[in-house]
This record gives sequence, C-alpha cells and structure tokens, in this order.
Amino acid sequence: MIRKTRLFTPGPTPLLPAAQFAMAAADIHHRTPEFRALFLRVLAQLKVFVGTRNDVLLLSSSGTGAMEASVSNLTSPDDRVLVLSAGKFGERWADLTKAFGCQVDLVKAPYGQTFDLAEVRAALKPEHKAVYMQATETSTAVRHDVEAVAKLVKETGALLVVDGITGLGTTHFDVDGWGIDVLIGGSQKAVMIPPGLSYLSVSEKAWAAMETATNPRYYFDLRKERKNAVKGESAYTPAVALIAGLGAALDYIAGQAGGDLEKGRIALVDNAQVNAAATRAGLVALGFTLFAPTAPAAAATAVAVPEGVNSGDVVKALKTRFALVTANGQGEMQGKIFRVAHLGFFDYLDTVALLGAMEHIAKDTLGLPVKYGQAVAAAQQVYAASANS
Ligand SMILES: *Cc1c(COP(=O)(O)O)cnc(C)c1O
Repeated sequence: MIRKTRLFTPGPTPLLPAAQFAMAAADIHHRTPEFRALFLRVLAQLKVFVGTRNDVLLLSSSGTGAMEASVSNLTSPDDRVLVLSAGKFGERWADLTKAFGCQVDLVKAPYGQTFDLAEVRAALKPEHKAVYMQATETSTAVRHDVEAVAKLVKETGALLVVDGITGLGTTHFDVDGWGIDVLIGGSQKAVMIPPGLSYLSVSEKAWAAMETATNPRYYFDLRKERKNAVKGESAYTPAVALIAGLGAALDYIAGQAGGDLEKGRIALVDNAQVNAAATRAGLVALGFTLFAPTAPAAAATAVAVPEGVNSGDVVKALKTRFALVTANGQGEMQGKIFRVAHLGFFDYLDTVALLGAMEHIAKDTLGLPVKYGQAVAAAQQVYAASANS
C-alpha cells in the first residue's frame, strides 16, 4: 500500500499548502516597497494573532532566539529571576538565564505535572526582576496556568515572560488583561510554516526595563528591531520567504472565520482542544496511560507506554508501517513516552487517521487486546459532543 508521510510532531508541524506556494513565490528583496508592505501587513496580523495591543516583533531565528532576546534585553548580570520549570523547555529558561549571569531561583514540578501555585506564591520575591515560564511544556505535553501565575506576578512588579511557542494557537490568552510582558511564538508550531521565524509581543513595561538592562545583545537587539519595524524593515536580512508564508497562513486562519483573524485564532485554538480531547479519549480507550492526565495541553498529547515496552518501538512502527511521524520523549523521558501534536494544520480527520493507525500498532506491535474501531469510536464521541462538530 502507498503511505503518505504525515507529521504528527509538536514542531515542525504539517505545512499549509497555501503557505508553501507563497514561500516558493517570494522572490523579493528586503529593502523594497514590496517587502515593506508585506512585513507591515504580517506584523499587524501577528498582533491580532497574539491578541495584544503591545508591539509584536518578528525575528529570523528559531523560537529559542526570541527566548534568548527576552533574557539578554531585559536582564543585567546578577539580576535575580524566577524560573518555573517542569520539563526540557523550563530547563532551557534556567540555562539561558544562567548563561546571561542571572541569579536563578527555581520552582519545579515533576515531569508530567504543572506547578503548585502556593509554591509559586511563596517563591516570588520583591527582588525578582522577571519570571520565566512556558504556557505549554512541550516535552511533557502539560499546560501551565498562565492566568493564575500572572495574577501572582502582578502583585510583585516583576516582568512576566511566557514561552508560548506551543501555547499560541492552542491556548486562549488575554495578553494585556493578564499582564504578560513578553509572549513568544515560533513559526514551526501553530502557524503552519517551516522553522526559522520567532515572534514576540513586548509590553511598555518591558520596553522601559530595556533602558536599564545591561546584558550584551547584538543580533537580538529588540529596540533596534522595533525602530526598523516601524518602517517595515528588519535590522538585518530577514527570512523573506518565511514571512510571505506566514502572511498566507494568517490569511488562512482568518479565512476559517470569514476573514476575521481574531475569530479565526479562537477557532484554531478550539480545533486543537477538540483534537487533543479526542486523541486522549481514543488512546485511553486503547488501554494507554496519559503522561499528563491532570493538566493536559491542547498542543500535544504525551502517552506513557505499558511496562516493559519502549516508546521508541511505537514511534518506529508508526513510521515504518504508516509513514506517520511522532515524537519520542526527550531526555530521561526517552523510551517511556511518545508525543503526538494537535497544533496548527491538523483537522479532525487527521485525528481519526492517527487513532486508526494506533489500533493496528497497539494490536500488532504491543500485543494489546484491541477491538478495531474502539479508539476511533471514543474520539468520535468526543467530536460529536463538541460544539465544533
Ligand atoms: C519548540 C519549542 C521551543 C523552541 O525551540 P526552537 O527549536 O528553538 O524553535 C521552545 N519552547 C517550547 C515550549 C517549544 O515547544
């Protein structure tokens, strides 16, 4: 049988065909009126996609570039910061803030769980310059309660920096209402284009903090990018083709709600949430255990495999039999869990396909007592009961 390659990884995610065409056609120089018009249009769309009145900047780097910018531009050596860490990406915040000489206090949660808010409250000190967290911790597929953390941080005056790289497009945020000073996204996640762009919203409070922050920065100098962005330019050669693709993807998302990008963003988030819930129901019906049952993300689902099974065998079987690409666990979680994504260009029928394939793998690779249709039926129940059906 022929097998179509299907990406189910939480970044990179499947590409939107309209974005691929726009990228292929993006034969434009970046110091021209054509590019300036494109860049200004995409920046304005991104503000709506992020859902903020704050500035939104676009950088030519993977998501970690914007994470680094939010440390180098906002902190000085010896600044005390609080990092909330519950997985590999939380650990990246700790590494990054240490690399820029910050004194790092940590609130940790075990892999597969989210933070105890009482612990966060107790750890917050008036000396903290900034708090760094994820909206969704992609390595464990856990959703963190950004709204609740934002309430606690607001009382202290610290800056709140949120890595929303898989949170954007899968979580409803009220950026300005909650007081998120920096919210970071990446192109290879919910916005359906290849890796290579990061974007971030920056509050007035964060701009003010940059005036006194002394850590070194050059390529990721946000004040320089802001100045250039007003003119429709970036400081250095931008990833022009990706920006054209991003414009097409944001048009597509708006098109899901009759051209209204804000409503389209809400529909995209709801889409991820229904697909995630359907996937969880299907996998549980097959006898799998969810790795993050108490705070599951809509961006991705992490699944624990039965005792004595290596999750790599599931990943490999899905790839060789169905050309379906999933992600193994990262670090210590490798071999114990596998992850499937719902963020971006996934529809309900993709979920049905994944679960149909999982029934074959559960039966033939893992020897579970599978009745064909049981995972798919559980997902269909979730879909039918959702407002989106
Ligand atoms: C993908 C991802 C990143 C960014 O990684 P890059 O490889 O630099 O794009 C950061 N944080 C989270 C939560 C992610 O999912």
